[in-house]
Amino acid sequence: MAAKKQYAVIGMGRFGSSVAKALSGMGFDVLAIDADEQRTQEISSIVTHAVSADSTDEEALRALGIRNFDVVVVAIGEDIQASILTTLILKDLGVPAILVKAKSELHGKVLSKIGADKVIYPERDMGMRVAHHLASPNILDYIELSPDYSILDMKVSGPMLGKNLQELNIRAKYGCNVMAIRRGEEMNISPRAEDRLVEGDVLVIVGRKDNLTKLEIAYQ
Ligand code: ATP
Repeated sequence: MAAKKQYAVIGMGRFGSSVAKALSGMGFDVLAIDADEQRTQEISSIVTHAVSADSTDEEALRALGIRNFDVVVVAIGEDIQASILTTLILKDLGVPAILVKAKSELHGKVLSKIGADKVIYPERDMGMRVAHHLASPNILDYIELSPDYSILDMKVSGPMLGKNLQELNIRAKYGCNVMAIRRGEEMNISPRAEDRLVEGDVLVIVGRKDNLTKLEIAYQ
């Protein structure tokens, strides 16, 4: 059996502590690091290890054996300098996967340039999801896959009811693909052209953002 992945999370703000708790809940070993002793105290009963350290101090990270972790999450938002410096040190020490929370597009750009493997924008992404849902209550979720592509969960509305996928013709009309149909707890992950839609169904659709927007407007 493959060894359990080892995670370290730096910065126990709302985002970092939520990542650390969720990973712990899934049974992973998690090292939580924060410069603030009280923050480390608060998480210590939940994660495997909690340590007070300044992540901009290379020696401190080295002493914690940070290079032996498979994934390190940097969840420092306010202090952009500390976030960048920490990422640089982790990269230098040879951490295989570094995920960093960014506060702004510019912050994110710098992080990518210096070698962050994934840059996360929690506020921006959650804002986008909420906006899509507000603009059209049929849109239950919106997840960005890349700058050009997204996935949306769309509740089947009036004009879609009783139609099958062939009749809706979403692929030809909007260039988007229906990947799945969710019906209650059931997930039909290879829907067929003749599958008919009923009240309560949710379509999981992938496509270019501009095409998805056209689809959202058409079925508002
Ligand atoms: P939230 O996720 O709550 O929105 P945030 O983006 O506002 O958080 P901060 O409050 O800036 O993030 O930082 C999160 C945590 O990171 C804080 O608990 C802070 O003590 C810790 N932190 C900041 N700088 C460092 C550092 N150099 N080394 C270790 N921990 C740090």
